[in-house]
Amino acid sequence: MCSKSGSEFPIGKLYNLSPKGAPLLAQYDLDLARTKLTKKQVTQGPHSLWRYKSLLPLQNLDNLISLGEGDTPLIPISRYGQHIGATRLLIKDESTNPTGTFKARGMTVAISMAKELGVTKVATPSAGNAASALAAYAAAANMEAHIFMPTDTPRANYIECKIFGAAVTLVDGLISDCGAIVTERKHKEGWFDISTLKEPYRVEGKKTMGLELAEQLNWRLPDAILYPTGGGVGIIGMWKAFDELERLGWIDKKRPKMIAVQSTGCAPIVKAFEQGMESSCYWEEASTLAAGLRVPKAIGDFLVLQSVSESHGTCLAVTDQELLSAGHSLAEREGFFVAPEGAACCAALEKLLQNNFLDRDEEIVIFNTGTGLKYLDEWTTQIPQASDRS
Ligand SMILES: *Cc1c(COP(=O)(O)O)cnc(C)c1O
Repeated sequence: MCSKSGSEFPIGKLYNLSPKGAPLLAQYDLDLARTKLTKKQVTQGPHSLWRYKSLLPLQNLDNLISLGEGDTPLIPISRYGQHIGATRLLIKDESTNPTGTFKARGMTVAISMAKELGVTKVATPSAGNAASALAAYAAAANMEAHIFMPTDTPRANYIECKIFGAAVTLVDGLISDCGAIVTERKHKEGWFDISTLKEPYRVEGKKTMGLELAEQLNWRLPDAILYPTGGGVGIIGMWKAFDELERLGWIDKKRPKMIAVQSTGCAPIVKAFEQGMESSCYWEEASTLAAGLRVPKAIGDFLVLQSVSESHGTCLAVTDQELLSAGHSLAEREGFFVAPEGAACCAALEKLLQNNFLDRDEEIVIFNTGTGLKYLDEWTTQIPQASDRS
């Protein structure tokens, strides 16, 4: 279904954007599922996001390409919580996914669907982690992967892609410049453009973060969710997941405040939210070491802004220095070595507790979207120069 016009399209065909230039979102017969699908069937499923296969688009499991993604832990972080003044704080730790980030969730679904629909060559622009995940899943599916990433993408991503056998082009520009190259060359080269939200299924994979969260909290939702927002696909996906769970009758109407966190070096969605706009404007000279947040103009920005407002949430930005020191403070107290994007949620939470947007006794979930190990150069700046040698 087109996310702008609502017009519908049949399943079983390859799709990019709708004729209106908007993302397509998959729809399920939830009235039927409501009478058939039980929570028990789901909880007895595999220990991966494929336990939710009834809420995913794949028709034939023979086409499944899975590396064991999803089923990530939801863990209380009370020492850090106490330090910043939150009594019921949890972290949803996505660093345990294949290739170390939640991007694997989107790719397992998108690549399985691409295989089902006969694709053999895929291409994407990426700020880094989507490229690693695509390269891994394409390797497993025996597909060609063509990846375009900015030259200053974290080195780990480049190395992973090469080791997975992808064709990598480094572009002296931003992710939007990389996207333009894919758009220009895809028809001639016969590539399927698997850019996020330019095909309908990566968001389906990402929505499983919301399904898992509900299951882990015994089919209810927390008071607030902080999510590091680049393209915002995680927020769009989770919001869709909550709606689907309500239509299944598995959760009630209550929704968490959805809080979109960006970096002050690239905060188009925060700016649009503050100005009360329905969509964002291109952010000039985007720059932040949280590479996943360096998205100057997100194609699904209007959907992110809608979910944030409907949820009575908010959008805010933090500086690179703030996110590094908050991530360091979390690591020292809890033993989580998070990605700078996850660290941004910590810094944002500190602010929202200080200005009383969030209350100390609310149940709050922060998303760590990836492992800190992919960002060794960025985290090295947190280590004092003093010599460790005796
Ligand atoms: C891609 C990415 C993000 C942003 O994800 P969206 O859901 O598209 O906003 C956040 N953190 C990390 C580590 C990422 O790789």
